[in-house]
Amino acid sequence: MKTIGVLTSGGDAPGMNAAIRAVVRSAIYYGCKVYGINRGYKGLLEEDLEEMNLSSVGDIIQRGGTVLKSSRCEEFKTEEGRLKGVKILKKYKIDCLVVIGGDGSFNGANKLSEMGFPAIGIPGTIDNDLEYTDYTIGFDTAMNTVIDAISKIRDTSSSHERVNIVEVMGRHCGDLALYSGIAGGAETIIVPEMEISSDEITQRLKTTQKRGKRHSIIVMAEGVEKIGSANDLKKKLTEEAGADVRVTVLGHVQRGGSPTAFDRILASRLGSRAVELLLDGKSARVVGIRDNQIIDMDIQEALSMKKTFKKDLYEMAKVLSI
Ligand code: ADP
Repeated sequence: MKTIGVLTSGGDAPGMNAAIRAVVRSAIYYGCKVYGINRGYKGLLEEDLEEMNLSSVGDIIQRGGTVLKSSRCEEFKTEEGRLKGVKILKKYKIDCLVVIGGDGSFNGANKLSEMGFPAIGIPGTIDNDLEYTDYTIGFDTAMNTVIDAISKIRDTSSSHERVNIVEVMGRHCGDLALYSGIAGGAETIIVPEMEISSDEITQRLKTTQKRGKRHSIIVMAEGVEKIGSANDLKKKLTEEAGADVRVTVLGHVQRGGSPTAFDRILASRLGSRAVELLLDGKSARVVGIRDNQIIDMDIQEALSMKKTFKKDLYEMAKVLSI
């Protein structure tokens, strides 16, 4: 009988609970023992873990956040820290670990595998910044949160004939801004992957103003450094296009909320596959989804893949927002 450890690490994402539930339930179904490690690698180093049973994960599939809590842990980046972690895992006779998190957390899992401790990664981040998988757990929910906000902002933007800049998360990845911008019918989408000057944005606004459109939604990813902050852009549009501009920074609201059906199903499928891989004696793998098929891949290979931006979608959005 194997003993599996499971933890959530890095930025939390809606759907992590559904993944924990899937790991715990499948592991128990296959006769394994499961330990839930609280607060990611930090909790591991502090020996903050407990055995989980079927009811530990009851009533959590619909809940945002992570019942295991999450954190960042500098100590785990050191070899000394990781050796301590492996020692604690062995003390509890844990044979292998499931890490739910983003690329940083995967790096930790990779290092553990290199030290001979089997680990599997499940992608949990609202950023959708991992190339090897079409979607990460939490992205769909965050996107729907942004769309909901855009729809509400659009109502008031229209009443007051204002320009609204909506800043969304995503770190260096523009997926959340791109997808929610398309679904929210934004007039302009600004992402870190595509060059766009503030002059061009001003020009676009003036063009729409000329044809009588007095309100506009600009979705801006947080990682766009070249044109400055949303407030810098507001200043420019106010001064040069004479627009009444408001900025809404959505912030952490995007990280919470009940996961969508898509995220719950994705998390359930990925959690189940992770356990199957461990039972097959696999290690140093990550699970993901491609063309609606659950896949697994070498963790180092996955981490070395550079995220590609969907330029075709970006161009399409430009056409649809003339
Ligand atoms: P995310 O997993 O969301 O990308 P972070 O990048 O903050 O979040 O990583 C989460 C945690 O993973 C870090 O706080 C650290 O404990 C661990 N980690 C990140 N990079 C490494 C690394 N190179 N080696 C070991 N552990 C790492």
